[in-house]
Amino acid sequence: MCKTCQHKVKSIYDNPKYMFYLEKGEMKLEKYRRKGLKTTYTSHVKKRLYQRCISESEILSALNNGWLIRSKPQSAIILSYTKVGRTYRPIHVVLGYNGDTIEIITAYRPDHFTEVWNDSYDKRICFCEGKKGGMY
Ligand SMILES: [Zn+2]
Repeated sequence: MCKTCQHKVKSIYDNPKYMFYLEKGEMKLEKYRRKGLKTTYTSHVKKRLYQRCISESEILSALNNGWLIRSKPQSAIILSYTKVGRTYRPIHVVLGYNGDTIEIITAYRPDHFTEVWNDSYDKRICFCEGKKGGMY
């Protein structure tokens, strides 16, 4: 891990706000779940999902069963595992809160991005520019 990323990782995950926002986010997400999830997709996301062979039912399953790994007041990242063939593969859904709907910003398989995430895919370990672009 490069020095810049090391510093960035520390500043995110050692910050008490990280846990604070995760807990707040879980409560917020629970409210959306209780009301029955309403989701919106931009055309960009639809294209991405198609390219990545990720279905809308996988997204819904992640929203309902996944857990937050990053939470901000207006957005969040969910980690879940969805069945692909005979195995379960990790999936990240990046979402935004928009009134009573959840806006799907993007979704991807974190295992497709080498050395960007830790082994359990719940912490980002590299923020270098070259690796960032591909996910959105
Ligand atoms: Zn790096």
